[in-house]
Amino acid sequence: MDDLPWQHDALDTMLGRADLPQALLLAGSKGIGKRTFAAALIAAMLCESPRPPGRACGACPSCEWLRAGSHPDFRLVSPQSESEGDGSKGTDETRPGTRKGSHQIAAEQVRMLADFVNLSAHRAGRKVVLISPAEAMNSFAANSLLKILEEPPGETTFLLLTHQSQRLLPTIRSRCQRLDMAAPPHAQAIAWLESQGVADASAALAYAGGAPLEALDAFRGNERSRRSSLLTPLCEPATLDVLGLAETLAKEEMPSLVSWLQKWVYDLIASRLARRIRYNVALIPAIERLGRAADISRLLAYQRTLAETQAVAGHPLNAQLLLERLFFDYAEIWNVGEGEIDGRA
Ligand SMILES: [Zn+2]
Repeated sequence: MDDLPWQHDALDTMLGRADLPQALLLAGSKGIGKRTFAAALIAAMLCESPRPPGRACGACPSCEWLRAGSHPDFRLVSPQSESEGDGSKGTDETRPGTRKGSHQIAAEQVRMLADFVNLSAHRAGRKVVLISPAEAMNSFAANSLLKILEEPPGETTFLLLTHQSQRLLPTIRSRCQRLDMAAPPHAQAIAWLESQGVADASAALAYAGGAPLEALDAFRGNERSRRSSLLTPLCEPATLDVLGLAETLAKEEMPSLVSWLQKWVYDLIASRLARRIRYNVALIPAIERLGRAADISRLLAYQRTLAETQAVAGHPLNAQLLLERLFFDYAEIWNVGEGEIDGRA
């Protein structure tokens, strides 16, 4: 994610300082962009050819490694449940092997930093550790960190990010320089959410208690669940409740609904003809099963129908009727007469 507009000044001030603190505590409520701020700061500190007034260039080897998550002079310390995967929550069910990790930062994770701190840097001379969220450190971990901070950690900068600074040991707080971060002014938050494509940004922001990144997450998560209320029934065309589904979804925004259908049908066709699935990668088994069993000429005709429908979807005369027709035609793609359906899946 790019820098957040309400953080530009704080970022410039911080990067303009001659001496960055050895340990910086970024404190503030959840969902206002502390992590994004930390990322911009870390990138700038490690960048090998920063742009004035000190921002990361985005193109040097250091910037590339950071993006790839493999910078030798950077360590992220997070609860194990968070550091698995890159925040792609909601996909756990599709990865049966995923184990639920701890919500704490263990002492062992902090102790492993000792070597990192003591070795010299691989690149430009500075090393950075991000501990996020710092209140997730259990007391053993916090004491291990104190030991490291008590001895001057040389060229290593520690960033501690916290949503609840009162839960940190006072001794840790007193070792850090503190930067309090606030939510952006209302109008700026709304403008930013709109630039991210969030519909009804004002309501979304209110619902998230004024925290714009939380509002964005909720918006994206909600879109996933709305999409699945369409796609889950479509996985079983033989038992599709055409009228019920049309009634349920009639209040949805038609253009997005039709575009979800178009992507779904695109995947069915691509799976059948090219064995490739582009959009709905969480539903591959169902798509492959349906793609094999479909009447391909009806499937292709349906794709054309959807394209025609999309052209008028912005102003349908009767959304519910339109959906009834679309879902009825959809079920017909597999309704090729008794005994002819390939039910091998
Ligand atoms: Zn760079």
